[in-house]
Amino acid sequence: MTVTQVYESMEYGPAPENSAAAMEWIAVRDATFGLYINGKWCSPVAGAYFNSVNPATGEHLANIAEAREEDVAAAVTAAREALPAWRALGGHGRARYLYGLARQIQKHSRLLAVLETLDNGKPIRESRDIDVPLAARHFYHHAGWAQLLESEFPGCASVGVIGQIIPWNFPLLMLAWKIAPALAAGNTVVLKPAEFTSLTALAFAEICENIGLPPGVVNVITGDGTTGQRLVRHPGVDKIAFTGSTEVGRAIREATAGTGKRISLELGGKSPFIVFDDADSDSAIEGLVDAIWFNQGEVCCAGSRLVVQESISDLFLKRLRARMETLRIGDPLDKATDIGAIVDGVQLQKIDRLVREGQEEGAHCWQPSSSAIPTSGFFYPPTLITNVSPASMLAQVEVFGPVLVAMSFRTPAEAVELANNTRYGLAASIWTENINLALDVAKKLKAGTVWVNCTNLFDAASGFGGYRESGYGREGGREGIWEYLRDPSESGGLRESKSASSKKGSDSKRKNDPATPSHPLTLSPSQPVPPIDRTPKLYIGGKQTRPDSGYSMPVRGRDGELLGEVGEGNRKDIRNAVEAARSASGWSVATGHGRAQVLYYIAENLEARRGEFVDILRAATGQTAEQSLSEFALSIDRIFTYAAWADKYDGAVHGTPFRGITMAIPEPLGVIGIGCPTGSPLLGFLSVIIPAIAMGNRVVAIPSEAAPLAAVAFYQVLDTSDVPGGVVNLITGPTRPLMETLASHDDVEAVWYWGDPQIGKQIEQLSTGNLKQTWVQQETHDFWTDQGAGQGERYLRHATQMKNIWIPYGE
Ligand code: NAP
Ligand code: MG
Repeated sequence: MTVTQVYESMEYGPAPENSAAAMEWIAVRDATFGLYINGKWCSPVAGAYFNSVNPATGEHLANIAEAREEDVAAAVTAAREALPAWRALGGHGRARYLYGLARQIQKHSRLLAVLETLDNGKPIRESRDIDVPLAARHFYHHAGWAQLLESEFPGCASVGVIGQIIPWNFPLLMLAWKIAPALAAGNTVVLKPAEFTSLTALAFAEICENIGLPPGVVNVITGDGTTGQRLVRHPGVDKIAFTGSTEVGRAIREATAGTGKRISLELGGKSPFIVFDDADSDSAIEGLVDAIWFNQGEVCCAGSRLVVQESISDLFLKRLRARMETLRIGDPLDKATDIGAIVDGVQLQKIDRLVREGQEEGAHCWQPSSSAIPTSGFFYPPTLITNVSPASMLAQVEVFGPVLVAMSFRTPAEAVELANNTRYGLAASIWTENINLALDVAKKLKAGTVWVNCTNLFDAASGFGGYRESGYGREGGREGIWEYLRDPSESGGLRESKSASSKKGSDSKRKNDPATPSHPLTLSPSQPVPPIDRTPKLYIGGKQTRPDSGYSMPVRGRDGELLGEVGEGNRKDIRNAVEAARSASGWSVATGHGRAQVLYYIAENLEARRGEFVDILRAATGQTAEQSLSEFALSIDRIFTYAAWADKYDGAVHGTPFRGITMAIPEPLGVIGIGCPTGSPLLGFLSVIIPAIAMGNRVVAIPSEAAPLAAVAFYQVLDTSDVPGGVVNLITGPTRPLMETLASHDDVEAVWYWGDPQIGKQIEQLSTGNLKQTWVQQETHDFWTDQGAGQGERYLRHATQMKNIWIPYGE
């Protein structure tokens, strides 16, 4: 036997995920779940329960409560009563909760993934790598929108009580798509998961309970379609957000017509997967596997119609069949399984019936000879349907299973016509190496999402939703937030809680914020104990470093008393710091989402040291404890603001007068040298460092010479927050010579400075060598506590430069 033969004949061994922890999680709850209403677990009034089943084995998993009229009413009442306080909490308070939910989903990710696979039948590889991480991502992203709501959607009010109804194909993910934006915008919700898959929604309810989400903000009521109907009809609901079939979507439109309820509908699809003759066919075949066999084809935007150019059609289908022979169907808990179980016997029968009816109409059905289908549970093999006309049933009806229908075309115009020949319009995928053609076709397709040389990509920052009978409304991104807001011009639009930009408002907001403990903080005795026993070092490349000079400088309080000492940095330290910053270039290409997570983590770890920082601030400024506490609270708020922006400071598509698109993309500058302000020693420092790194820059910062202790204490926070070494470097010492070194350093792309105009002038003169950007400012009184002056988009504009990419297309 040759090595090649051995390689080709090797069988996969089983690689099962252990389900013991998830089964234990169910068992300790007696395998019986009540309704989650007003922060409590309640038995259903009528005492009725239904079964949740593992579709891969037929095994009974749990008893789930069925919500009747009174239960639905109780949940709606709870949501209504929770609404005023949730609105009044303000964006920052809500952002903290959404962040908490994101973290909890991450911390319990394996439990959630296994529960999802047990309940739904999808491969563990998918629940583990796609459903659960994306659900967490949605909560992170929307923590950001909560934080930015008051500045980005001024004067808008939340809609109110939202009834949310979701399907069984992505139970936790659809929950996240619904709940995260609703809560961010200040709504309260009553969610009904699908009858087949309630478990992860119930686990999520427990997470809400664990993080202390105020009772009534999220209510989960289980039941079947009738429960959904009850929720839709309840007069106390202000909006219904629905994902499911077009048929039920229609019924919901009818039931809510004339009631003043808002609705958004994410419905079915029959999305085309268009392959041109110049496509990279290996990639297109892998893309197709993902388009139609991901999640057993139970995906609303599944690429269920292959539309392939006639000249390559035969060869393409031949290669596709060969690839289908290698798909592994079976135990969803096996990490090497490609196709798991169909969610339920009902759905399996529907798929089977549609395929047989199609065959009776003349369609050819091909299934791989190799797929051995498990004998228990609900499984359906990957299926390729050919010999269909565009009008035939299988080319028109959504099968919602692993069934692909193939057709061919000759010209691009014919491809567009075929692709649009459907009542749906959810998504489309185009495969060609010709960008000209790809963009031309993309514009002509009637679909809410078009993927070029890719498929089934989703993200919280991008809107998702349909054209035509695939529904209306968008989930994700800025456009998704509008679904949960009332514009100030809309009648009945209540004013949102006092805006955070008014000082009074933000104070009262903070008092109401249960995420900030309301009990008085234990501060040290009236005479603060200065942290004199420490000698902070410099912070270079993620390491604490002694200053090259070997000297320390005293730091004095307002009355001249000695508060501590800091290292006296010099030119050499600056050079080392710039070098460290240069080599931390990975930060500049990290995703906005990745950077946002690190920033939230900084806030979390800073918050844990509140007492220490408040003491430092009191000593440095002579402020009262309350003033210092307020500066500290605003500092946390400011970090949240830029964490929020990290994945939202988008580019734009410009309307240049030519056939094509001009994409403007903000990019980080690189290494920024920052001379930090003196007023508000912690807040001022963070107000300039954080936006710079949020946008992907690396920073060499000179903390204020007069009040550096808060900044140097901060490096301990950086150390514990997963900030890569070199992203923030701190060099204490005399401002003028250090800033001069930075301003003349050729490896620094920009210099920012707040302070003495003489030093500012010197910086501008020295910057000319490599023409670095300079931003020289003076602080006025209360500059940093003013939400208008001390934060905002202009910090992000200074931290980025725009790149415009021109892409012509068309005939
Ligand atoms: P479905 O029957 O429409 O059910 C969706 C949800 O609505 C379930 O929670 C269901 O409860 C509930 N429901 C059923 N009848 C209702 C009624 N008369 N009033 C109120 N609620 C009612 O859809 P499905 O079969 O579960 O899901 C598959 C469909 O969802 C496919 O058509 C797919 O394309 C679509 N989908 C669309 C998207 C999208 O984003 N556009 C995403 C995923 C799925 P029970 O299940 O408990 O009966
Ligand atoms: Mg189930």
